[in-house]
Amino acid sequence: MVETRLIDGKAFAEGMRARLKEDVAAFVRETGVTPGLAVVLVGEDPASAVYVRNKGKQTVEAGMASLEHKLPADTPQDEVLALVRALNADSSVHGILVQLPLPASIDAQAVLATIDPAKDVDGFHVVNAGRLAVGLDALVPCTPLGCVMLLKDVLGSLAGLEAVVVGRSNIVGKPLAQLLLREDATVTIAHSRTRDLPGVCRRADILIGAVGRPEMIRGDWIKPGATVIDVGINRVAGVDGKARLVGDVAFDEAQGIAGAITPVPGGVGPMTIACLLANTLTAAKRQVGAD
Ligand code: NDP
Repeated sequence: MVETRLIDGKAFAEGMRARLKEDVAAFVRETGVTPGLAVVLVGEDPASAVYVRNKGKQTVEAGMASLEHKLPADTPQDEVLALVRALNADSSVHGILVQLPLPASIDAQAVLATIDPAKDVDGFHVVNAGRLAVGLDALVPCTPLGCVMLLKDVLGSLAGLEAVVVGRSNIVGKPLAQLLLREDATVTIAHSRTRDLPGVCRRADILIGAVGRPEMIRGDWIKPGATVIDVGINRVAGVDGKARLVGDVAFDEAQGIAGAITPVPGGVGPMTIACLLANTLTAAKRQVGAD
């Protein structure tokens, strides 16, 4: 039985935001430019509205400008594309984020492809995904970036470690695998067609759940002492009937087996916005030639 350490993403993200605030202030002093983040929200998805509000609040707290564009769910795709093009051309906007998911009537890939890669602070544009894949400087997706920061904080070097990423989405699983590869981990990407998923997971020194299925990864899938990062955010009914959030990993079962684990909430989630703010400052620096 090992003692399982809790990875406090909330505290890590708070520290990161405090340092970032100082960096933003220094940048504004040196250049006279205030970094600006534009967030586009189409429709009324309640979870997206909460994310956008939190992003806006934390952007302002970091000393940057937050510009929110809220469009009705029935906005034609052409109008969304026109807004993105206008934001591309606006020199007060250094980062553009289009909140996903978009309504089904809009082609998300077409919208993402219209964002200027230099302003693509979510790192979803194929240019940034490609640059990451070939090892060039890129704007990197925020959630995977946050995961790797937490891992390096816990483990130091990741070189040679067996990492298993469960989930292969473009926004989490694939970019996370690329980042782990960049850190010299030995990476396996598992998904819904993987054979013997528990056995694959048991190989992992670093096990990452990015699936979106409540507590799917059981305690006995975890190698003793492994570091577990739980990206999943799943809303389930608690015993009192109230909704509560759980991850993709059976957190209670992991106690005494995992060496360290992120909680849900309070693990990866807070890192995502902190990394978004960091990407916005990076994008602003590059655009004014201060990088
Ligand atoms: P997607 O639905 O896009 O991808 C889920 C992945 O999980 C797919 O690759 C799918 O495989 C795989 N999968 C599904 N079922 C199984 C299964 N039974 N066994 C193995 N693999 C399976 O989800 P996202 O990547 O967008 O998000 C994953 C989770 O992370 C969600 O809970 C989401 O809410 C959360 N999230 C959290 C963020 C944060 O800030 N903390 C940010 C973004 C996401 P296949 O490709 O074969 O279908």
